[in-house]
Amino acid sequence: MTQQLIIALDQGTTSSRAVLFNHDADIVDVSQQEFTQHFPKPGWVEHDANEIWDSQFAVLQKLAVNNQLRPSDIAAIGITNQRETTVVWNKKTGKPVYNAIVWQDRRTAARCDELSSLGWAEKIQQKTGLVIDAYFSASKVEWILENVEGARAQAEAGDLLFGTVDTWVIWNLTEGKVHATDPSNAARTMLMNINTGEWDVELLELFGIPTSMLPEIKDSSADFGSVSFQGESVAIAGVAGDQQAALFGQNCFEKGMAKNTYGTGCFMLMNTGEQRIDSESGLLSTIAWSLDGKITYALEGSVFIAGAAVQWLRDELEFIKSASESEELALAAHPESDVVVVPAFAGLGAPHWDMYARGAIFGLTRDSGRPEIAKATLQSLAYQIFDVLTAMQKDSGIELSQLNVDGGAIANDFLAQFQADVLQKPVTRPKVLESTALGAAYLAGLKVGYWQMSDLEQVREVEREFEPILSQFKIEALLRQWHKAVERSKQWIDADE
Ligand code: ADP
Repeated sequence: MTQQLIIALDQGTTSSRAVLFNHDADIVDVSQQEFTQHFPKPGWVEHDANEIWDSQFAVLQKLAVNNQLRPSDIAAIGITNQRETTVVWNKKTGKPVYNAIVWQDRRTAARCDELSSLGWAEKIQQKTGLVIDAYFSASKVEWILENVEGARAQAEAGDLLFGTVDTWVIWNLTEGKVHATDPSNAARTMLMNINTGEWDVELLELFGIPTSMLPEIKDSSADFGSVSFQGESVAIAGVAGDQQAALFGQNCFEKGMAKNTYGTGCFMLMNTGEQRIDSESGLLSTIAWSLDGKITYALEGSVFIAGAAVQWLRDELEFIKSASESEELALAAHPESDVVVVPAFAGLGAPHWDMYARGAIFGLTRDSGRPEIAKATLQSLAYQIFDVLTAMQKDSGIELSQLNVDGGAIANDFLAQFQADVLQKPVTRPKVLESTALGAAYLAGLKVGYWQMSDLEQVREVEREFEPILSQFKIEALLRQWHKAVERSKQWIDADE
């Protein structure tokens, strides 16, 4: 092989993947392996940390074998990962003391409520940019130290290490030589002061976590050690949490640029440059990445139910056999239909924040049928993104010029076009929809000189740009209807239900 390649390891919530990129940032090959989800009690979600590692290593090996890679063929390895998920292991044996507690796990919710009632919310927000929540790593580490027999004593003796999944993968890849993370992952632990980029002593004390457990925080594009491969070393040179990696992989390098990922839920991030911006709408401030010691910040907003609403059309309503059929069905809808679907199946997130809202269908008439409901369901994804983006623009004072999109659901042309219409802004869909893996590859490639920043502008290929077609006047009328529907779906269940 004459041209060197970059490998991105993408350790996700349901599967581990290894993606091979060439210098044009095209995907050469992908290998993927799913792993087990453990639900030991209602609200608890765990992964076997050894299975995370084994599956990640297996896909790396498979990629190497299938493509007959030799060490000299690989310029570097980048890592991206499910964020917040927490692993604690013994540094002498290399064995985790407990399963990985996954970001979705709610077991520490009561502890987080307690911290809020003790008045920690403002301080934690100021230091970490986050809203106190069980989602982030801090209360999960505390839970392990409090509940796993002998863990506290081992931690105090300096024998235990903590890491988010990037750190766990790096530690294993380097055979225990490197215990490190990057600021985009550290920012999601609720233990890092995002203003300084360092672990926060006061928060470590609050959660009873000895500093000896913590990984070193390096730049996102840095020397994270190396993997021994066929007797030679291959550099691990880039690391970022999945959503921040996607922002980088979408070339959102400048302040004010934003990406949205349309998966089961949506994750929208806007680059806010060197300045941290605090939200008044409940969005999170986070670190996008750190390059050459310089931190870039982002605002983050999420939508709970996006592609999941399309799954609902398929699995519960049985209107379609596959998610992609929703497009054809939506196009068959009566153009004048006033049906609005509010997919508040799990309450409403930013900027509405109503946990008691529930899903609803409004505007039904005698002729409303499957096409009209399918269309309204797809439209609801675009409306929810409009609401998050509007909050971001208001908080940041930055007006977005275009939205870069990725994720499984945005393959839907109807949705992409309607998103452009609702935003009255171009929606840009890149050729490589694997922005997360690409971002990790970029970060690694930059460190080893495989790419320069200027190359990244050139290698990005847009598959399609959707320009707004519907008039502003028409969109304003539709948005009025959407917001009326949102208001009416709020506070549907009683607080004590
Ligand atoms: P995740 O990473 O959250 O698993 P993906 O990025 O793989 O999500 O996207 C899958 C989601 O996108 C599913 O919820 C599915 O219903 C939805 N989806 C996939 N293809 C389409 C399509 N063509 N139109 C609408 N929704 C789609």
